Amino acid sequence: MTTAPRSISIARPLVSDEEKAAVLAVLESGQLAQGSRTEAFEKEFAAYVGAKHGVAVNSGTAALIVALQAHGVGPGDEVITTPFSFIATATSIIACGATPVFADIDPFDFNLDPEKVEALITDRTKAVMPVHLYGHPARIAEFETLCDEHGLALVEDAAQAHGAEHQGKRVGAFGTGCFSFYPTKNMTTGEGGIITTNDDEVARMARIIRNHGQERRYYHEHFGLNWRMTDLSAAIGSAQLAKLEAWNEARIANAQALAAAVEAAEIVGVETPRVRPGDRHVFHQFTIRVAPEKREALQKALAEAGVGTAIHYPLCINEQPIMKELGVGAGADVPVAEAASQSVLSLPIHPSLTGEDVAYIAECLARFA
Ligand SMILES: *Cc1c(COP(=O)(O)O)cnc(C)c1O
Repeated sequence: MTTAPRSISIARPLVSDEEKAAVLAVLESGQLAQGSRTEAFEKEFAAYVGAKHGVAVNSGTAALIVALQAHGVGPGDEVITTPFSFIATATSIIACGATPVFADIDPFDFNLDPEKVEALITDRTKAVMPVHLYGHPARIAEFETLCDEHGLALVEDAAQAHGAEHQGKRVGAFGTGCFSFYPTKNMTTGEGGIITTNDDEVARMARIIRNHGQERRYYHEHFGLNWRMTDLSAAIGSAQLAKLEAWNEARIANAQALAAAVEAAEIVGVETPRVRPGDRHVFHQFTIRVAPEKREALQKALAEAGVGTAIHYPLCINEQPIMKELGVGAGADVPVAEAASQSVLSLPIHPSLTGEDVAYIAECLARFA
């Protein structure tokens, strides 16, 4: 073991006295499961996104499943999505009995490419699910138009994009938004998720599906399971939401400083993240592009220097063993996504980085790349 001068982790959840007090108050209240605190958090988060409704659930994965089911996605349906994401983007579709169809990504921002999606629409297509990867918005206004034209549901996987904006509007307010509150995300509830929508009927169905398919107690008209958030989680969520904008601003400032330092060093074979003009990237991840033959050595050198990194994601979803076993995504034509999986590397960017940390990361990159 070498002793590195610094130790900078890739992610760091921030909880302080507000969260502790909020959880204690819930424990003392006796109302632990979904109740008034969940309802309050739903209203606050929906208002933040700029959507009419918020429906809280117990994970980001649950948000995706419940949102798809609220749109009526089921067996026989196809949902077009990106192969360059976390596995839950696709497994949520499979959990509904539907089939993910993978379209290629836009090399600019690693997000689903609307033109590639349009080419894959069939009469079985029921929904399109773009992901706002790393906190950079997908071309979501184009997807909105495309889905309107073809009568398709638009489900946004916004698990990494709390507060990201496209053309002045927050993601999750275009289609049906699905957010995750896992501890590494821009804000957390321990585990948790939420669905945001302007559609009264989608919100109504989502509330029914997350609660065993019942509208009236013990009368089950729909298929549902227990996807409910606890009031303990919701209380943490409200405390975190109050701080989210300050954290997003810190991520953006860290990203600007890190990008400037890396660019000034003129490192051959390293490219900093791109931001589409007019978009707000909330830097859930700061993901550089590295020449594929350099990546492994660079990651190892950074680890030895105490800088945590991660590869999001080393394998496209259609290449994952379970997808091969299920026969999902066989024949997917996604060369841009496959090339991306060979070159991406995420560096620490979370709000607790100091200016010295940022300078140190840039210096390590310049030294080892
Ligand atoms: C984190 C994440 C999810 C799943 O959220 P969980 O809360 O972990 O279930 C889904 N999609 C993407 C893109 C994610 O990053």
